[in-house]
Amino acid sequence: MAYLKGLDLPYNSMLSNASNYGGTRALSSIKYIVVHYTANNGDTDTGNGSYFGRTAVGAGAHMFVDEDSCTQSVPFTRIAYHCETRGMEFKCDCRNANSIGVEMCSDKVNGQYVITRQTMLNTVKVVKYLMQQYNIPADRVIRHYDVCGKLCPEPWVRVPQEWQEFKRLIAEPEKKEDVEVVETIKITVNGKEIKADAIIKDGRTFLNLRSLENAGFKVGYDNVTKMRSLDNEKKCISLILQDKRSADYIREGNVNAVNIDGYNYMPVRDVCAIMGSTDIDYDKTREEIIVKG
Ligand SMILES: [Zn+2]
Repeated sequence: MAYLKGLDLPYNSMLSNASNYGGTRALSSIKYIVVHYTANNGDTDTGNGSYFGRTAVGAGAHMFVDEDSCTQSVPFTRIAYHCETRGMEFKCDCRNANSIGVEMCSDKVNGQYVITRQTMLNTVKVVKYLMQQYNIPADRVIRHYDVCGKLCPEPWVRVPQEWQEFKRLIAEPEKKEDVEVVETIKITVNGKEIKADAIIKDGRTFLNLRSLENAGFKVGYDNVTKMRSLDNEKKCISLILQDKRSADYIREGNVNAVNIDGYNYMPVRDVCAIMGSTDIDYDKTREEIIVKG
């Protein structure tokens, strides 16, 4: 079991029998993602991976998804035989050669096929990952049914609302990041007033390091270690900074920093700690933070 970067679902790789898929293609030729179901009862992604690995059936798909993981059976650089059903008329320009086939494992309940909610949600993850990787918009994620009229995935043809919900989920943007509003606040340090850009995040006030620099702090950057330091000649701390656009906290020792739009912010409390002060107060009427050294 492994994980792919950017896919929050356990991932297995089990190469299909060579007679089950076709030739190579450029990844840039991928224009569609086609969703299928296996029409089995209680099958698994690894079970399918194993079956297609040892059995020559002249068909297959790139990915299989079940309730707890996914399995890649055909490399994305190879053409899988998954959506060009013999004897059926094409309804669009999607073909095996320009698409990725994703098979959902299925169950049978009271004589009818179902895609469980968990399998559907895992397929959302896999498809969103593939959309991102190969730059496929949501309107080019289609059912086998939309390619040529084949009743596949049958539950999503019989119950179009399930397909519509899937489409809605894959079109949803990634978890929204908090929008940080930068405001200028006044801080009084040992009676000396400074102005600093700040953001309030999770109920804490973070100060812009550049503002602190303007207020007489020394802000350094080490190109080799990618560390930024803040020094007021009493104490020096270092922050390890990650992805510039990431708004994640970066933790080094007791100091949290946050990077917003390329600017580094650190909590007032940590600034005070650097200055050797734990005496910090907020004057509500004056909207001022007061630090006593
Ligand atoms: Zn199909």
